[in-house]
Amino acid sequence: MDAPIPTLAQAAQALAARETSSVELTRACLSRIERLDPTLNAFITVDAEGALRSAEQADQARSRGEGGALTGIPLAIKDLFCTEGLRTTCASRMLERFVPPYESTVTARLRAAGAVILGKTNMDEFAMGSSNETSYFGPVRNPWDPARTPGGSSGGSAAAVAAGLCVAAIGTDTGGSIRQPAAMTGITGLKPTYGRVSRFGMIAFASSLDQAGPMTRDLRDAAMLLQVMAGHDPLDSTSITTPPPDYLAALERPVRDWRIGLPEEYFGAGLHPEVRAAIDGAIALYRELGATIVPISLPYTQHAIPTYYIIAPAEASSNLARYDGIRFGHRCDQPKDLKDLYARTRAEGFGAEVKRRIMLGTYVLSSGYYDAYYRKAQRVRRLIAEDFARAFRDHDLSVILTPTAPESAFPLDEKKEDPVSMYLSDIFTINVNLAGLPAVSLPCGFDFHGMPIGFQLIGRPLDEAAILTAGHAYQQASDWHNARPGNLP
Ligand code: GLN
Repeated sequence: MDAPIPTLAQAAQALAARETSSVELTRACLSRIERLDPTLNAFITVDAEGALRSAEQADQARSRGEGGALTGIPLAIKDLFCTEGLRTTCASRMLERFVPPYESTVTARLRAAGAVILGKTNMDEFAMGSSNETSYFGPVRNPWDPARTPGGSSGGSAAAVAAGLCVAAIGTDTGGSIRQPAAMTGITGLKPTYGRVSRFGMIAFASSLDQAGPMTRDLRDAAMLLQVMAGHDPLDSTSITTPPPDYLAALERPVRDWRIGLPEEYFGAGLHPEVRAAIDGAIALYRELGATIVPISLPYTQHAIPTYYIIAPAEASSNLARYDGIRFGHRCDQPKDLKDLYARTRAEGFGAEVKRRIMLGTYVLSSGYYDAYYRKAQRVRRLIAEDFARAFRDHDLSVILTPTAPESAFPLDEKKEDPVSMYLSDIFTINVNLAGLPAVSLPCGFDFHGMPIGFQLIGRPLDEAAILTAGHAYQQASDWHNARPGNLP
């Protein structure tokens, strides 16, 4: 057995102290990928050559005394961030051979900080799904039990971190796709405030909801990555101009006397009793740390799933109109005419879930239905955001604590043919995207099958610092985030 892959903070320290090199660390990750990824299927593309080249450059930079904490750290990137010269598929046949001519802001910033990109991780097609089973490249398997899903849509990034195929990874979250797979694989996943991290070069799913974030072993690593990823980008008109605070400093604050809200709507009948028990453990620990637990209500919670499944498909149907077989991506063979080219290209290039969303989105945006569905959903979205604002204000809360997902990792194929039950996986995460808030999922236990369980901390707009403080305090006092899957070959 090789040595375990360190956390980002540990790796940065070892690199700075010359106890290891980036080449050595990158080789260790690549050899674990070679050994474990045939089972896990976490990567769509592995760029061994490019990674080793960046690792050598990082080592040279460090030997000149240059570089920062991320210099030489091997990362895995969800395959929807455009990487110049490196294939970016969005796990779709439509983009199977797409090599972007430009770099996303997130990956550009990580590269500029010296990070090494190992490759591009598997995901649900166009990030539509909660189990990684809609990928054109096949499902990802959960490192804790390969018969189960790692969650989705950032399931490849989650599995790669959990199995130690990389030091940390980047995912995206439109309705829960960072937090839900983080919970199901026993890692830490943070979705920043909408607009905190640039969406430039991220292949769009639902533009008013999409947000990139770190998927890591612990919150210190998340803070280190977020510090580099966050900040205004003139290339994304929705990116926020307020400069990000010092996230690492936020880790060091105590949570004594903090007020933590518990929304009753998140603890109802749909919550699995074993998940409930693990969350109760997390709540008890916060009490021990001196926080005050405040019961609250978010009455519009129940409307989140239907609201999201109008807004997200509406935006998706518009964003995905660009895949027409002409400008880029898949093109069908020998089209009879232009209409045949469009129709067959899209019929061949997209999978069933993507088609379902395009049809749904086109329907709710069509004249006659626009007011009844789309406009109404926008109004409910506002009410959901106001629910959170009111609760934070009226109860003077620092953060809100909820389960991340109603259940732990489920077996592959269990929900594949049942979209509605799949959609319900995100019942506790989707509200947060609709309201644009920052939130993180942290491991807090295991179920009877040995599957990880996560809880979620939600912050006020722009207050990633609060969820970092509260989450780090928890991880300082607990050990769940240090558990590693023991069954890997
Ligand atoms: N599971 C949700 C969906 O299918 C959310 C996905 C995401 O966050 N990208 O839309």
